[in-house]
Amino acid sequence: MAVMITQECINCDACAPECPVAAILPDDNEKNPHEGVKFYVKPESCVECVSHADTPRCAEACPTEGSIVWDMPYSTEFNEYYATGHEEGRYAIREHKSKGLMLPEVKAQASISDIPMDLRLSHSNVMDSF
Ligand code: SF4
Ligand code: SF4
Repeated sequence: MAVMITQECINCDACAPECPVAAILPDDNEKNPHEGVKFYVKPESCVECVSHADTPRCAEACPTEGSIVWDMPYSTEFNEYYATGHEEGRYAIREHKSKGLMLPEVKAQASISDIPMDLRLSHSNVMDSF
């Protein structure tokens, strides 16, 4: 990660088709840990659109202010953050047959380097950064 989707989400499906790496699951997907509530970004897949677009495409498409917000980079520095989030049910990190849980220490993902850490920590609205 990445970006995350909040309770503000109205399940309109504008974001998922825009994602270049199919990282967004709809509210009726069984792999979505928040099934039936809101859409979900898979942090182990999201690359913040690095090498695909200048701004996160999902956030650009979203009509609802505050639905798509910053989360921490999916890097080894935040391995524990994502491991704990997985244990607590906020994330549903993919389990690989031989590699195990695909946490950042197994496979880190790209993130936009110049997003200030305080904006990520406070889960601020993505589009306010552009
Ligand atoms: S930021 Fe880009 S890669 Fe990440 S979920 Fe949104 S559209 Fe997909
Ligand atoms: S575009 Fe925004 S409101 Fe619509 S499903 Fe995605 S996150 Fe939710």
